[in-house]
Amino acid sequence: MSTISLSSPSIVQERKVVTAIPGPKSQAMHERRKQVVPPGVGAALPVYIDSAFGSIVVDIDGNHFIDFATGIGVTTIGHTNSAVAAAVSDQVHSFTHTCFTVTPYEEYVRVAELLVEHTPGKHAKRVMLVNSGAEAVENAVKIARKHTGKSGIGVLDHAYHGRTNLTMTMNFKNAPYATGMGPTAGGVFRAPGSYPFHDGLSGVEAAERTIWYFEKLVGAQDLACIIAEPIQGEGGFIVPADGYLTHLQEWCTANNVVFIADEVQSGMARTGTYFASEHFGLVPDLMTVAKGIAGGMPLAGVVGRADIMDDVLPGGLGGTFGGNPVSCAASIAVFDEVATHDLTAHAQRVEARLGGGLKKLAEKYPVIGEVRGKGAMLAIELVEPGTKKPNPSAVTALIAFGAAHGLLLLSAGSSYNVLRFLPAVTMSDDLIDDALSVLDQGLASL
Ligand SMILES: *Cc1c(COP(=O)(O)O)cnc(C)c1O
Repeated sequence: MSTISLSSPSIVQERKVVTAIPGPKSQAMHERRKQVVPPGVGAALPVYIDSAFGSIVVDIDGNHFIDFATGIGVTTIGHTNSAVAAAVSDQVHSFTHTCFTVTPYEEYVRVAELLVEHTPGKHAKRVMLVNSGAEAVENAVKIARKHTGKSGIGVLDHAYHGRTNLTMTMNFKNAPYATGMGPTAGGVFRAPGSYPFHDGLSGVEAAERTIWYFEKLVGAQDLACIIAEPIQGEGGFIVPADGYLTHLQEWCTANNVVFIADEVQSGMARTGTYFASEHFGLVPDLMTVAKGIAGGMPLAGVVGRADIMDDVLPGGLGGTFGGNPVSCAASIAVFDEVATHDLTAHAQRVEARLGGGLKKLAEKYPVIGEVRGKGAMLAIELVEPGTKKPNPSAVTALIAFGAAHGLLLLSAGSSYNVLRFLPAVTMSDDLIDDALSVLDQGLASL
């Protein structure tokens, strides 16, 4: 594992709180925002950002936060990575847009080659690029329907797939994603997945239960696809029991049902492998990717078996901005950085350091029901001590304590009872240790 230089002339990699949070400038900016931006566009922490580098985010009041949010798992290789910045700058000066379906360019093809190379399976694959995770999920479903000639979509409890009409239907939680905004899409069927902390089932038992539900709710003859996040993101970083995903996929393969892995959050070196599917020996038929693949530039895609992807008629896939050349240039730089600096190994280092620290805290504080996750995708589920009952108020309190002391933290979980950690895989051991000491104080203060 090579060491990574994490110095910036302007942004010292240190936590520093110099005002109340949010500070006066952020508060004033928030008032300005409220005049023009609707509340439906949420604001987890209304501190307004001036700059960011590595694992430190600086707000307009001069506070330095240690970033465990990375813009929801996007700046996985660190903020303003210099190779990504240089690639973006070069591309902006050569051309910014032609529309790949009008006059194509190499950058799109290169990203496709890299995704083919680094996703599980050596079979022939194809890649189509879009702008967002939700758009990738929508396209994966369209492709699965065209290939199978069937329409049903199988989704899992605690899933999150986006905010478009189809994907809001596919989410586990109706509120807030779809509340009052129906009719939702048809043809979506939901079954329980694998949640070892709560269901105690083996992977095969949980998969048999999922299959039983889909057989009853819809039946293989009407089911086009099952989509699963290999490690559930918004649902609370739920790691399925061993064998769950592969057993489910075996049933899919036997029944002409396309198995889609939604790796929008878990992909791209995040979990200590290029894609989380690898942890489970899973080779999905189709995979959706987004968030971390382009270092903060908007880019998403569907990667999948050539025989499935090739079934859509020319013109059936695409869009004006999909696979924008600047985003593609950034993505190529991200792949290069991951390989050059062995960043999957760095994600494993983060798991050992941060995960190890969280496990120690769990021994000390019974409010932590479980520590789970892989690589730099880790979480603690907070419970009423001595039970498995969700404790969302402890999560809210810890996030507020963290913010006041210079940590950016996110919640997750269908009951808002999970504190998730999505640091850059390049976060230094020193910053991790510092953050753990803040968490220790926060837990003591509950
Ligand atoms: C974030 C997310 C999406 C939606 O991606 P957007 O880019 O926000 O549309 C889909 N699936 C998973 C697993 C996600 O985490």
